Amino acid sequence: MTAIESTLVKLSVDFDVQKIRKDFPVLAQKAYGKPLIYFDNAATSQKPQVVIDALVKYYSEYNANIHRGVHYLSGKASQAYDDVRKKVHEFIGSKVEQEIIFTRGTTEAINLIASSWGRKNIFEGDEIIISTMEHHSNIVPWQLLCEEKKAKLKVIPINDVGELLLDEFEKLISPKTKFIAIVHTSNSLGTINPVKKIISIAHKHNIPVLVDAAQAMAHEKINVMDLDCDFLAFSGHKMLGPTGVGVLYGKLSLLEAMPPYQGGGEMISSVSFEKTTYNEVPYKFEAGTPNVADVIAFGAAIDYWNTLDRKAIAEYEHELMSYASEKLKTIPGVRLIGTAKEKTSVVSFVIDELNTLDVGMYLDTLGVAVRTGHHCTEPVMSWFKIPGTIRVSFLFYNTKEEIDVMIDGVKKAAAFLKK
Ligand code: PLP
Repeated sequence: MTAIESTLVKLSVDFDVQKIRKDFPVLAQKAYGKPLIYFDNAATSQKPQVVIDALVKYYSEYNANIHRGVHYLSGKASQAYDDVRKKVHEFIGSKVEQEIIFTRGTTEAINLIASSWGRKNIFEGDEIIISTMEHHSNIVPWQLLCEEKKAKLKVIPINDVGELLLDEFEKLISPKTKFIAIVHTSNSLGTINPVKKIISIAHKHNIPVLVDAAQAMAHEKINVMDLDCDFLAFSGHKMLGPTGVGVLYGKLSLLEAMPPYQGGGEMISSVSFEKTTYNEVPYKFEAGTPNVADVIAFGAAIDYWNTLDRKAIAEYEHELMSYASEKLKTIPGVRLIGTAKEKTSVVSFVIDELNTLDVGMYLDTLGVAVRTGHHCTEPVMSWFKIPGTIRVSFLFYNTKEEIDVMIDGVKKAAAFLKK
């Protein structure tokens, strides 16, 4: 037994993965007659039965529009929706509940900040700093803003293993730097960035920081007061919740000073043709009928997270990542992309002479779901001079045995496709 295998055996004593798997009905099925192996968790996670049940219960028992109804169902739905804001506030340790704004996801949360905070505070000649390893959703909104305002986008470079160059970051800061938007955990490299340090450097220069926590939330406990970030964005669907719901956290004073993002119902205090006044935060940023059902089901996901031992899970996922990385490295022609010291359970790799899509399609025939391509991080691929990678991303319900099937498939693919 190798050192890694023995650690996994030890971990399985603390963490009963087979019991956990029973909570996720989708994992029990077969694909093409083979047990389904789901390694595309960085794209979206699977959902526990409690989340599915919460959706069904809402639609079958108390579907109603919220906040404006005086009737029984509306009261029940409003209460359930409002309860989730409190749950999220407690989950990420924000100062007050009003700092939690529901969005469609990380993408909308970042766009909200770029449109609202950005349009008000960025002017010609100003600079915004992002990094090479941002997801497109933390690049394009800033490019649009810079184009509109004639501002400049500066980019923190990375090294050969996919880590940010912090010295270079400090050199990029100038009196013109007005905002920093940085990914906590890279979806294509798995790198966990030293965001707390970045925030503290930024704050010495009075620069606000937005953290893209889309990947981080499912792998570690984030506390916004501890990080001291000014804004944080994440998506429910990547952390066991339904699609279509995400969160923007912002420090209350910043949110209160920001203009609305979209106009419509709910976000107003009063409307006349002469003058419209706006509702208070967070409602000012939640125009129209919100995604009531998915927010409520997201609340069930948070309840589920609160039953889990996050430390044991993090250790277990780390073991899965190390195990897969070590095994992949032994396959001739395989090269890992992204080998930072601080890494989450994402493993990206390429195989000499092989098209990543072909490998992904071959693995699919074995029931193994992986993702191939640029993972919405084209600048990362350009930096590594590759068109894309094969990415396997684990969550706590995955197992070492599943990795063995994938490794076997990669070996076969390498031999078979090269012929
Ligand atoms: N940021 C990162 C790091 C991501 O991995 C993703 C999605 O993969 C996003 C942002 C965008 O998330 P969403 O599509 O849920 O808005």
